[in-house]
Amino acid sequence: MSSFAGRMKEYSTMSLDRFDRENLHSRAYFLSHCHKDHMKGLKAPILRRKLQFSRTVRLYCSFVTKELLLNNPKYAFWEEYIVALELESPTQISLVDEASGEKEEILVTLLAAAHCPGSVMFLFEGSQGNVLYTGDFRFAAGDVSRIEHLHSGSRVKDIQSIYLDSTFYDPRFFQIPTRDVCLDGISELVRNWISQSAYHVVWLNCKAAYGYEYLFTNLGEEFNTQIHVNSLEMFKKMPELLSYVTTDRRTQIHACRHPKAEEFFQGSRLPCGCRASDGTPLQIISIKPSTMWFGERTRKTNVVIKTGASSFRACFSFHSSYLELKDFLSYLQPVNIYPSVIPLGRTLTEVTQMLMLMCRNQSDQAATVYKPLGALKRCMVKRPTYECRPRPFSLFDAPEAQ
Ligand SMILES: [Zn+2]
Ligand SMILES: [Zn+2]
Ligand SMILES: [Zn+2]
Repeated sequence: MSSFAGRMKEYSTMSLDRFDRENLHSRAYFLSHCHKDHMKGLKAPILRRKLQFSRTVRLYCSFVTKELLLNNPKYAFWEEYIVALELESPTQISLVDEASGEKEEILVTLLAAAHCPGSVMFLFEGSQGNVLYTGDFRFAAGDVSRIEHLHSGSRVKDIQSIYLDSTFYDPRFFQIPTRDVCLDGISELVRNWISQSAYHVVWLNCKAAYGYEYLFTNLGEEFNTQIHVNSLEMFKKMPELLSYVTTDRRTQIHACRHPKAEEFFQGSRLPCGCRASDGTPLQIISIKPSTMWFGERTRKTNVVIKTGASSFRACFSFHSSYLELKDFLSYLQPVNIYPSVIPLGRTLTEVTQMLMLMCRNQSDQAATVYKPLGALKRCMVKRPTYECRPRPFSLFDAPEAQ
């Protein structure tokens, strides 16, 4: 849950992912993705009024984020003030003080954050140095080494500060299985179940939030089927996703929702109430995607665990693990690191201190204070294969709370 107040020390006339309080006076706004904890104040009447009287203030985000946002009528007033930017295309922006006319030029580049549809990081380059705001992100070890815009030639750019998604910056969250490993675990469970008979069905107990889209497409693809959802309205603009979802209840994989879904499930019913046409009772299992982490000493644990007679939890994380964050930071070696999230059970002071050890000039010391992870091999793993697909749906809850 983001606790970032909106402004960075280096470029303090603009705001990111926060739109209230002092942020109301900003010269430009940036939205990393459509999760509620990054949208505070974004639909407030006071901000709306301010926009009406401004000639230069704009909100910058990715094309997908723009689409998701405008699809919600509460945010529709942003339409004339949003500027969608392409990924990996450095764009110059003027930060103008409308009272005095004074202005500052800054270069911004959007980098895919592999967190949910449309999610990006912002790299700023200007008179106060290079600053990276990560928003929420999930990178595997090695991913950062292949981001062209973080390099000049073959060298890593000199990064002054990183504003970091530190959700899991704690040795307790040492390792979180990769998306592919988690997906394999879920697929195997689904396969073993639905292959038993046509009456064996799976209910994916997903929270209403962006981020599960790739689970639907992968399962749809693998089992050559469609996933039952409540409505197709939200998928209309996404032909790639549209072919994997359906409102026809006669399918073996459901991701439909109902306020009393858990209760229904206890009574062996699906949220949509679907029954077999010949009256045979359905055999249902539920799979709840949730973050599961793996301690340093734990070598192998199943990515799927049984939590009840027919319920399972499956590992599914939208944020980088401790190990992945250390890999990311030790590669970029910024001068400063500021946490945007306080890990569960920690304080801001603790996480700030731990991050300080990963800053440039401190990393030698860090190696002795914290057990070194060894030279992390930056094997050229493939880029996150996670594709951001828009899902115009008015549900911006942050899924990390599961
Ligand atoms: Zn967040
Ligand atoms: Zn998020
Ligand atoms: Zn259903």
